[in-house]
Amino acid sequence: MARPPRKLRPVDKRVIPIIEQGSAKTGFARASGQRLASLPPLSLYIHVPWCVRKCPYCDFNSHQAPQVLPEADYIAALTADIEQALPLVWGRHIHTVFIGGGTPSLLSEGAVEQMLGIVRARLNLWPDAEITLEANPGTAEADRFKSYAASGVNRISLGVQSFDNDHLERLGRIHDSAQAMAAIEMAQKAVNRVNLDLMYGLPSQTLDQCRLDLQRAVSFNTEHLSLYQLTLEPQTVFSKYPPVLPAEDIIEQMESLIVEVVEKAGWKRYEVSAYARRGAQCRHNLNYWTFGDYLGVGPGAHSKISFPDRIIRQARTRNPQQWMQTAITFTGSHVAEQRELGDDDLPFEFFLNALRLREGVELSLFREHTGMSLADIASMIKIAQQKQLLVVSSGRIQPTELGWRHLNELQTIFLR
Ligand code: SF4
Repeated sequence: MARPPRKLRPVDKRVIPIIEQGSAKTGFARASGQRLASLPPLSLYIHVPWCVRKCPYCDFNSHQAPQVLPEADYIAALTADIEQALPLVWGRHIHTVFIGGGTPSLLSEGAVEQMLGIVRARLNLWPDAEITLEANPGTAEADRFKSYAASGVNRISLGVQSFDNDHLERLGRIHDSAQAMAAIEMAQKAVNRVNLDLMYGLPSQTLDQCRLDLQRAVSFNTEHLSLYQLTLEPQTVFSKYPPVLPAEDIIEQMESLIVEVVEKAGWKRYEVSAYARRGAQCRHNLNYWTFGDYLGVGPGAHSKISFPDRIIRQARTRNPQQWMQTAITFTGSHVAEQRELGDDDLPFEFFLNALRLREGVELSLFREHTGMSLADIASMIKIAQQKQLLVVSSGRIQPTELGWRHLNELQTIFLR
């Protein structure tokens, strides 16, 4: 299931060795004292690393599942992972939970129920928290979806990718178009909130085929759609044996077509790849894009956690087996990397996310979530304004049409 928000920025090479392994790892004290007046909202990401088989384009931390999923070991390690992270988030509420992967819908009903029970027992889960579970149409079962919902899952994100059987086959997906449509109906019967992940720019895909996929997707009237361009990522089968992808001008036409078809059908594009019905934006992803905090547990999961005096990033060990073995030792060795974000990192990290939003963000959010002053970025904003990539109006900072089309260039301005 391709989606950028949880594909967090690659961990910086300048990783500071972890200190206080196995104890309350609360990061590094800043000599300068107080940084943040209040802490941003906190989300929880749970990574489930297994899939039926690996798709040739996928660079996520996903692994072919063994014949019998080690659910009991996974849940034990997850419990240990959460418990060791508690000192980082004492007293804070969890506003959203995202169970992503991999293919979380491979998990049994009992495992998801247990998982959410563990979260509720150990963390302050907000009563109306958005709880999303990613599902693969090839593993969808009506009863299972209903049980997930009974356990508290209130949003299902389905990795449909295409409704064209040839394209699904070339993408190495385990489902066909009929299964995708059946899964959407099952998800809609189980929960009110359903997202469909779709891809475009598929091998040999024509504009008409893209249009058919879009028309089929909007016909289900789900509250949310995510549209991603297929890219050839390093270390994937597709990077080694590249398929023929549509030419750049066709891709551009597909992008215009997506906006036209999806917006005409009533969704609003609120982020580079995300379209929502009114009030149905993904709260979990919005928290990433507004530089909120997130605790990531499970193999390879990333965290960004703020304290009054500092902001840290963590990454868990990627290998599922190794993560399970190390998490349960309570030595902290399941955390592979940890570093504190400094003033050199924060403007870029903030705007890398915030500028993905069509409406931009309140400028005051930069100060609130980074602890830096607006004077620190005044020269960068000025450059972006001079290039007509950015506007600042009524306290909001927002990419212009040009800025959104050249997002990389705009984001890079904030790189020190
Ligand atoms: S199902 Fe999704 S996570 Fe799993 S291998 Fe395919 S693209 Fe990757």
